[in-house]
Amino acid sequence: MNRLPILDLKRSYSGIEDEIHAAIERVLSSQAFILGPEVLAFEEHVESYLGGDRVPLGGDRHLRAIGCASGSDALLLALMALDIAPGDEIVTTPYSFFATAACIARLRGVPVFADIAPDTFNIDPDAAAARFTPRTRAFLPVHLFGQTAPLEKILPLCRERNVAVVEDAAQSFGAWRDVGDGIKRAGAMCLNDGVTAIGCFSFFPTKNLGGFGDGGMVVTADGAIAQAVAKLRVHGAGAATPYFHDDVGLNSRLDALQAAVLSVKLRHLEEWNAERRVIADRYRIMFASIFGDEELIKQPAEAQGNFHIYHQYVVRVRGGRRDELMNKLEERGISTRVYYPLPLHLQPCFAGLGYKKGDFPEAERLSEEALALPIFPGITGDEQRCLVEAAAEILGI
Ligand SMILES: *Cc1c(COP(=O)(O)O)cnc(C)c1O
Repeated sequence: MNRLPILDLKRSYSGIEDEIHAAIERVLSSQAFILGPEVLAFEEHVESYLGGDRVPLGGDRHLRAIGCASGSDALLLALMALDIAPGDEIVTTPYSFFATAACIARLRGVPVFADIAPDTFNIDPDAAAARFTPRTRAFLPVHLFGQTAPLEKILPLCRERNVAVVEDAAQSFGAWRDVGDGIKRAGAMCLNDGVTAIGCFSFFPTKNLGGFGDGGMVVTADGAIAQAVAKLRVHGAGAATPYFHDDVGLNSRLDALQAAVLSVKLRHLEEWNAERRVIADRYRIMFASIFGDEELIKQPAEAQGNFHIYHQYVVRVRGGRRDELMNKLEERGISTRVYYPLPLHLQPCFAGLGYKKGDFPEAERLSEEALALPIFPGITGDEQRCLVEAAAEILGI
């Protein structure tokens, strides 16, 4: 077998090459590179994808999408728009990419971690609720690996305490959850729930909706927040008053080339997300047929009512054999990755927060067991079978 990489973007690109070339050609002819009509068109495309008939907003509220330079900046802009000040507490997960907590620390806020649920890897709503204090200004859940977190369980508390919800949906564009009275999309899950709600996306090339460089987006149905973010991304100046600054913002804009590429890719996203689910099913079936009842490798759980889009397919390797399996697969040309080797509460830069090993046992155990397997549109069943058979051989099944 040829090498099996953790991600091969060339395979999905080959099916859209002509569309992408046309989109890029359009931007080159216009010679307009920052914000402008391409970005506006993509923002509107996202608004109708996330909102539209799926999220009836009522009254004069409507979903606004504001492009920016990265997912990390989307989170930072969201917290800046909420006026997070030094000492403000934000309840979040210790099991995520660094940016989730970095945006809080950057504003001198205090990341307050709560442990994860061992089956879905997402923040445990009861543990999160127990961490709320009078200083809690926001709740920042992550829809990890493509599966939405159960926000409906904590929304009443957020409403009661006037705590804003900032969803980190960087890994879950297109994921949704059935909450009984309708469907809620990642990044736009709390728009009608009486809380200040903001969703943040990343278009980093490896994400399930990825550009050809950095990019990000903030979405909200709160008009004042939308206006604040639109200003903060251009150094705090109004669109009509470019050299007059009400606030000190960032230089964080989405550029036209990325927006043009992303508009093409968004048209294919449903099909790619559906394919990711097929690939996940194939892994489950293959592991079951080759490993039988052997629980040395545990497959990821899909919580009821969830449309998991499998941004990552992350298994747990039991018996302390994760690193051995990863290294031996690599020797055979099969790449896997550890997301994430060190939970956020144990990162050296957060030592000052006073957390220690043992504080969040579920997150810590997962960081020792988690292994992400290759999953991307275009991966073949034969490639997956090779991986599963190699894993069985290495582990002596
Ligand atoms: C990728 C990612 C981000 C940051 O996005 P960038 O575009 O790389 O800045 C934030 N949160 C999570 C969970 C991510 O996976």
